[in-house]
Amino acid sequence: MVEITLVHGDITEQRVDAIVNAANPSLMGGGGVDGAIHRRGGPAILEECKEIRRREEYREGLPTGQAVATTAGELPARWVIHTVGPVYSEREDRSDLLASCYREALRVADELGARTVAFPAISTGVYRWPLESAARIAIDTVRRADTRVHEVRFVLFGQDAYDTFARVLAETRPDG
Ligand code: ADP
Repeated sequence: MVEITLVHGDITEQRVDAIVNAANPSLMGGGGVDGAIHRRGGPAILEECKEIRRREEYREGLPTGQAVATTAGELPARWVIHTVGPVYSEREDRSDLLASCYREALRVADELGARTVAFPAISTGVYRWPLESAARIAIDTVRRADTRVHEVRFVLFGQDAYDTFARVLAETRPDG
């Protein structure tokens, strides 16, 4: 079983095997957590992202719900796993795509041999996913994941995000 832990803080400071980036399909960096990771990790991350984009399957970008790994550059982690969350929509249920980000990131983590993985609250920033729903999907998907990762650390940047994840985690603990 994966142990789930919560931290209120900055994902770029986490000493874990892999940190997950809430990237956009271009993999060329952006704002939010993506910007912070590239800024603190240095140019090696972008170089590898460019190499990934040269591969035939990623010519148009990284599809939503998929994940790829690069070096973590100067960050204290070993790898960055980039995944693209769905933009929240009121008209269409995109929950499966958000769940897929967590599943695919953990699949890539297994391929790398990562045992400790830190996630941000994917899609809850610029992509506007409501926190409570995002927290439920994140926690539920990680709990059900068939993975050799033994710690998943959710790193929540805002107090609101931390409180929401803490409440959902407590409410949904399998042992009650
Ligand atoms: P998305 O486009 O997937 O919504 P964002 O980066 O805009 O991605 O936001 C995702 C979440 O990451 C938000 O909850 C935001 O507050 C949070 N965030 C921003 N910077 C950091 C950071 N340095 N460490 C952890 N989480 C962060």
